Amino acid sequence: MQQSVAPNSPIRPKSSIADMVRYKPAVGGPGNRRMIRLSVNEGALGPSPAAVAALADCAADIHRYPQVDASGLVQTIGTHFGVDPQRVVLGCGSDQLIQYLCLAFVEPGDEVIYTQYGFLLFPMAAKIANGIPVRADDDGFTASVDAILGKVTPRTRVVFLANPNNPTGTMIPDSEVRRLRAGLPDRVLLVLDAAYAEYVTRPDYTAGIELVEETQNTVMLRTFSKMFGMAGLRLGWGYCPKEIADTMYSVNPPYGLNSSALAAGVAALNDVDFQQRSVAHNDRMMPWVQDELTRLGLEPFPTVANFCIVRFPTDPTKNAEKVKAFLAGRDILVRDMVGYGEPEFIRMSVGTEEEMRITIDAISDFLAGANA
Ligand SMILES: *Cc1c(COP(=O)(O)O)cnc(C)c1O
Repeated sequence: MQQSVAPNSPIRPKSSIADMVRYKPAVGGPGNRRMIRLSVNEGALGPSPAAVAALADCAADIHRYPQVDASGLVQTIGTHFGVDPQRVVLGCGSDQLIQYLCLAFVEPGDEVIYTQYGFLLFPMAAKIANGIPVRADDDGFTASVDAILGKVTPRTRVVFLANPNNPTGTMIPDSEVRRLRAGLPDRVLLVLDAAYAEYVTRPDYTAGIELVEETQNTVMLRTFSKMFGMAGLRLGWGYCPKEIADTMYSVNPPYGLNSSALAAGVAALNDVDFQQRSVAHNDRMMPWVQDELTRLGLEPFPTVANFCIVRFPTDPTKNAEKVKAFLAGRDILVRDMVGYGEPEFIRMSVGTEEEMRITIDAISDFLAGANA
């Protein structure tokens, strides 16, 4: 990987980001539509047809600046999720909100806690803001509240928790999230990244709306990139205490979102039928995929989201690195976990039924020793 700036350049990046390297998205070749892409956890069913129609409708108005703060989207989010629209903050993907939260609340040298198998953007955002990322070990593949609390120091400013977590697909229940909040000092901002909340059906799960409303120091992040099937439009939102929402509005770029994303977001929220189909598809396909992987002698890990991690044998002819390459040879993209120090695992999401049948057949061929 390349250093962001050549060593002999007279222009130096600030020291907190000097060791950062370019993020390598696992999205395959440009515009390759034939790919079966299970590598970035996108929704399986494509976008809502209503969202696509809304995009076409707003095309004639693109000479107008978008209405970000007073937009219909903020109101629609309020109605759909039962939240106060005044405290909803929109972002160009929730990735951007993660960055702005760090830029707004992290002083140079402040510590930002993230979990061992947590989302890679958390430590990146901390560094960009001149903060110091601090890793809390997981318990197995699940976030550990005790480990997080054990990392708190007088310099801790933010704790990021993806719940459900990416890449592991695990979650911690509401009671544990509350124990975490109760154990953190009031001055520590707890950010609950609930990018996969729409998929979770377990009764002991909550995305964090209540905690945001009951406390002054908890933020919940959501996205349209996963279940809503709109990753390409870049649309996310945060739910914040009033003062934090005001701060976010003061640091966010005034026209930070595009008008097509706003229009499509409203349409997607109103298309409840699409949402039900998406969740039902995941509920049906994920157990099928996991059963098939188990039947092939592999070890898929339990998940509450639309992706799971699978352990492959260590045998160098059948390992995760080899299967990833084999599948790529058949235009099937999956993600490795080398960046997390777990080279035995592959992460894959649920696509359409046809895509999953093709993928399972390909893995079966791979294990039987076929050449791609
Ligand atoms: C996919 C994902 C997001 C969403 O990112 P966007 O910028 O909204 O596309 C946020 N957090 C986690 C953990 C994710 O996996």
